[in-house]
Amino acid sequence: MPDVHPGDGAAGGSVIPPRDIPAQTILQFCYSAGVTTSETAAQQKLAGLCADCLHSRRIESDRGSIFFLCQLALSNPQFQKYPRLPVLSCPGYEKTRQA
Ligand code: SF4
Repeated sequence: MPDVHPGDGAAGGSVIPPRDIPAQTILQFCYSAGVTTSETAAQQKLAGLCADCLHSRRIESDRGSIFFLCQLALSNPQFQKYPRLPVLSCPGYEKTRQA
């Protein structure tokens, strides 16, 4: 059973995998490992530019609703904290670098 640290992370807790398990298993703990191409395409359609913007943070509520928090809004009032989706044009958009 992984360690859970209440109060960390957007969902109210984060999961730290044990150190003595293979890297492939650790991937199961990564959000991106569980996202399929069709899910990514669906998010792109839902959120527009925010789906792959460097400044967005995906937040899922307890009820399963998905929000995209614009982190630029924390320091620049030009941007809305939770922009109306889909965002089709944005001066702050920067594409996330691929791993
Ligand atoms: S900068 Fe624009 S595209 Fe990027 S997260 Fe904020 S609102 Fe979305």
